[in-house]
Amino acid sequence: MWQCLPVATLTFLGAAQTVTGSRHLITTSGGKRVLIDAGLFQGRKELRERNWAPWTAGALDAVILTHAHIDHTGFLPRLCAQGLVRRVLCTAGTRDLSQLLLPDSGHLQEEDARYANRRGFSKHRPALPLYTARDAEAAVRRLEPFPYDDPVDVVDHVQVTFHQAGHILGSAFLDVRADGKRILFSGDLGRYGTPLLADPDDPVSADALVLECTYGDRKHPAEQAADELATAIHQAIGRGGPLLIPAFAVGRTQDILFLWRQLEHEGRIPKVPLFLDSPMATDVTPLYLKHPEDQSAGVRSLLAQHVRPLHPSRLQFVRGAAESAKLLERQGFFAVIAASGMVTGGRILSHLEEHLPHPETTVLLVGYQAEGTRGRTLADGGKELKLRGGIVPVRARVAQMSGFSAHADYEEEERWLSRAPAPPGRTYLVHGEPPALEAQRARLAAKGWRVEAPQPGAEVGLA
Ligand SMILES: [Zn+2]
Repeated sequence: MWQCLPVATLTFLGAAQTVTGSRHLITTSGGKRVLIDAGLFQGRKELRERNWAPWTAGALDAVILTHAHIDHTGFLPRLCAQGLVRRVLCTAGTRDLSQLLLPDSGHLQEEDARYANRRGFSKHRPALPLYTARDAEAAVRRLEPFPYDDPVDVVDHVQVTFHQAGHILGSAFLDVRADGKRILFSGDLGRYGTPLLADPDDPVSADALVLECTYGDRKHPAEQAADELATAIHQAIGRGGPLLIPAFAVGRTQDILFLWRQLEHEGRIPKVPLFLDSPMATDVTPLYLKHPEDQSAGVRSLLAQHVRPLHPSRLQFVRGAAESAKLLERQGFFAVIAASGMVTGGRILSHLEEHLPHPETTVLLVGYQAEGTRGRTLADGGKELKLRGGIVPVRARVAQMSGFSAHADYEEEERWLSRAPAPPGRTYLVHGEPPALEAQRARLAAKGWRVEAPQPGAEVGLA
């Protein structure tokens, strides 16, 4: 007798045809709903407005997070505040990072609402935050941490195993079993052989793969980050003024600290004063030493020798605002690492305002600088920068490092894919701009894979 087989479905609610707002919904034949990532849309206004769209996908039996970046977690407090979430699962590292990052995101949402009210440009009066820091604190109390590699029962007929993704502390790709089908979610995939983090684990065979494509059309240059950093430090010392390094508090700051200590240890740079002027980075840095499951062999070996891998000898943590203000008066050569990485906010603004007009200053950009950011203006050789309502002339030397990235490029992604015992039955490409998605689609299709880049809202059966 013909029988209708139970079929789970997969709905692409975010990061479809774009790089932010990761939200992928699994619905089982029994009506259980599990959301993979609950990301915030970021960037252009049209994208950010999607965060305000009413949630029509119903109550969620579970949310599973791949990692703590806000474009994968930043919508969770909104869903929790609306009473839509039964349980939230993640790794221990993701739980620890989210405890810092989500409340910070809540503060930023509150600040945005206050700003909109002062300027009177919101459609809503008064403008309300998407969620508050309190909402975010309530959400992080819901996070249930799980180790890598152990299958976890999520709800009836759904199981998940977290595997190391090597992207940031706690990052995972997910092996999900739903209604007897196996779905692999790459999350954001890291790189092989990075100084700080463990390599990505090998993928498993799956009926379906949901694959990120951030760098689907790009290959990272081969420059060695350590060489680039050493050169920049020597040049800055030669100019006699400060070396200012805008950097993300999670990941990039720790990458720099690690290399800085190593260069010092190898005698390739002198022992010079280095200030970490970022309360968030100061809180995040010890977490990188707390989770052996996420560490590279290099970090584990240093820790075993009682060496502090993220502490150059003259590193100082700058906590309070008064201490930070005092640092602005310092003369001669010294180095400052401060957020944010693309100079969109944070304490780096004060340092740039003070030192950009002086030719003895060096600014070192250490990551991707998105269009429209102050970081991009500096990278493009802009002669002035809009800062806090004023115009600051740029007479400092601006240098850029290309050796850092937390995302696999297409060759590294291919290396990861090639380690699966068999190709996936179907592949869905997400988390990429259209040119990156198309490049990756063409590449996989040429190998005979069944592959597509779904549109926002698309639903597919997992038969
Ligand atoms: Zn990420």
